[in-house]
Amino acid sequence: MTNRAALVTGGSRGIGASIAEALAKDGFDVALTYARNAEAAEATAATVRAHGRKALTIQADGTTIEGNQAGIAATVKEFGRIDTLVCNAGLYPYGPIDEMSVAQIEEVLNLNLRAVMVETMEAAKHMKDGGRLIFIGSAFGARAPFPGISLYAATKAALRGFAKGVARDLGPKGITANVVEPGPIDTDLNPATGDSAKLISSFVATGAYGTVQDIASMVSFLASPQAGYITGAALPVDGGLEA
Ligand code: NDP
Repeated sequence: MTNRAALVTGGSRGIGASIAEALAKDGFDVALTYARNAEAAEATAATVRAHGRKALTIQADGTTIEGNQAGIAATVKEFGRIDTLVCNAGLYPYGPIDEMSVAQIEEVLNLNLRAVMVETMEAAKHMKDGGRLIFIGSAFGARAPFPGISLYAATKAALRGFAKGVARDLGPKGITANVVEPGPIDTDLNPATGDSAKLISSFVATGAYGTVQDIASMVSFLASPQAGYITGAALPVDGGLEA
């Protein structure tokens, strides 16, 4: 299938970079946003081009409404369409609630939740039958197996409700909305080393961290025509964290 376009927010590194490459392999032209790391964004864009697809990097702060709108607008301007939106950029503030600040609450709400709402609202205006909205939630959206993750868990849990509502709104237009809920994945945000990684691994049935490709494979499937009857769902890719 050719001439499809995707936007991956936070596509410069980690899970987002792997998703960008997987979608390019599937035949998508790929736009990706980043916050600070232009070099990493260019490296990911090179992996997209290596699959023969067009790439666009967009510096856009996802904690701002302007940044959210800029990502969608630049994608549509460059590719003339947007078929798949992957809201991946996210923050992981860590610490007990009585040590958190209002600034931290605002930042995580803005990036992990408001951005997903604004980007979905904007992208939906351009999407047609076959459109795909994919939100990267977290296994910690449904449970908090250890202290220090209340803000993060709350924003990721909210994505479940948002996906269900959007699925209802846009289902008649042939557009799906789903959440992918990763368990621990080895990235800069959650390196698979040290004592905290040992603790986190102990909650996983497989006893180990997953890879960025584990998440990209699920996103690739959800973005495909074969996944058209899956919507409003939260799909775990977590090594059996819930088992
Ligand atoms: P990383 O920290 O490795 O990468 C984060 C990405 O988001 C980078 O591309 C970064 O851009 C971008 N980003 C950060 N802040 C902003 C911002 N303000 N505006 C725009 N882009 C921004 O994270 P992961 O790959 O680990 O996580 C990706 C998603 O997966 C997140 O939503 C996270 O919550 C979720 N997740 C991760 C898990 C894990 O164990 N790793 C587990 C469960 C869910 P730049 O390079 O410019 O900084």
